[in-house]
Amino acid sequence: MKKIVLLFSTVLFIGGNLFAQKNDSLVIRNFSDDILVNGKAYENLRYLCKKIGARLSGSANAQKAVEATARMLKEAGADTVYLQPCMVPHWVRGEKEQAIIQTGNTKRALKVCALGMSVGTPAAGIKASIIEVKNYDELKSLGAEKVKGKIVFFNYAMRPELVEGGYGDAVKYRTSGPVEAAKLGAVGVMIRSVTHALDYNPHTGTTRYNDSVKKIPAIACSTMDAEWLQALLQKEKNVQFFMKMNCRQLPDVQSYNVIGEIKGSEKPAEIITMGGHLDSWDLAEGAHDDGTGIVQAIEALRAIKASGIQPKRTIRAVMFMNEENGLRGGHAYADFAASHNEHHIFAIESDEGGFGVKSLGIGGTPAQQEKLRSWLPLFTPYGIYGMPADGGGADIGPLRVLGTVMSSINPESQRYFDLHHAPNDVFEAVNKRELELGAVAMTAIVYLVSEYGL
Ligand SMILES: [Zn+2]
Repeated sequence: MKKIVLLFSTVLFIGGNLFAQKNDSLVIRNFSDDILVNGKAYENLRYLCKKIGARLSGSANAQKAVEATARMLKEAGADTVYLQPCMVPHWVRGEKEQAIIQTGNTKRALKVCALGMSVGTPAAGIKASIIEVKNYDELKSLGAEKVKGKIVFFNYAMRPELVEGGYGDAVKYRTSGPVEAAKLGAVGVMIRSVTHALDYNPHTGTTRYNDSVKKIPAIACSTMDAEWLQALLQKEKNVQFFMKMNCRQLPDVQSYNVIGEIKGSEKPAEIITMGGHLDSWDLAEGAHDDGTGIVQAIEALRAIKASGIQPKRTIRAVMFMNEENGLRGGHAYADFAASHNEHHIFAIESDEGGFGVKSLGIGGTPAQQEKLRSWLPLFTPYGIYGMPADGGGADIGPLRVLGTVMSSINPESQRYFDLHHAPNDVFEAVNKRELELGAVAMTAIVYLVSEYGL
């Protein structure tokens, strides 16, 4: 008898599971139809890019983006919309940078941009001999004797053989090149832009100083200019470089994360976070980085509300402030969560571009990953065929210490660094359907977690 009961309950369990999956696939189809037919993500992105534009932390545009996304979240149907304060750095680029290479009487201007958070040059600019190094080993082998008083040109190209991870490998020259060069007495730094693309777009991004090392100005040149300069330096010995930048750091500014929430109907204390970052670099419109992540999170909230489903757990769409040059928003969010004993079960971030989604990155324990992967068949109709381990994102990263399961939208990555932090990261570079299918993926995973927990 016991055996029969066991068998019967097993059949019921499997039957129930199949029924749930069938029902879930219909719910997700409904989200997808709504997003692809009635979606607001693309128009919201157009607004962020074209009506506001660049949204660097501390700028008037960043504040406009706070107000605009609060309004978008209300229109999307959030139960509550609120601003979470955080102080942010306020770095300004100032006038357009100048960079001129001089050999004898020949001068050529390069396409450059200051690295984010760089100090400026004196008002008259600086002029010095330029020396090229390919990497830190070459810099060290030159030693202080050859580096002192010079401008160091880090000409490290992103490695083409790395299918993924080329950016992570190359970006260290942007983040710590100025400190390493200054330790040997350099007076300035220029890096080759961190991109595979060969063009005339310089790419910015944060550089980091060390308080115990002299802060020297740092600039990035386009990859075409890097190639040209490399060829020149092979022929010419005494090449002079003039750089003039008046970028500077102003006092910190009051800013905000923008949060839209749907309260859970059964377990409201269990919180699910989905988001991206609202700030963007000042050279373009911050379309792929990270306007797309922002509008996908708003869209996911809208689609859940529009479906009429009452999620069992609390869902928050979070527009994080200051990912690019400080991560203050991400820290403010996690600090608030920790000090208020909030229970954050799951967080997903979309901050790798708004290209077609290939997979969802997932973290958590092996059991949690197994549960998440059991839902993979629900995603394959939308072009998502994998759930590789280790998801996450910079803004949600600080939640990790609270035991939150980390996840990420993983899009096709090959074109992202062609426009990352560069003047061509504009609305026109985003494909409407790829953007929307990213929102479908975010909606579906958040819905499933809110329904079944982790
Ligand atoms: Zn980003």
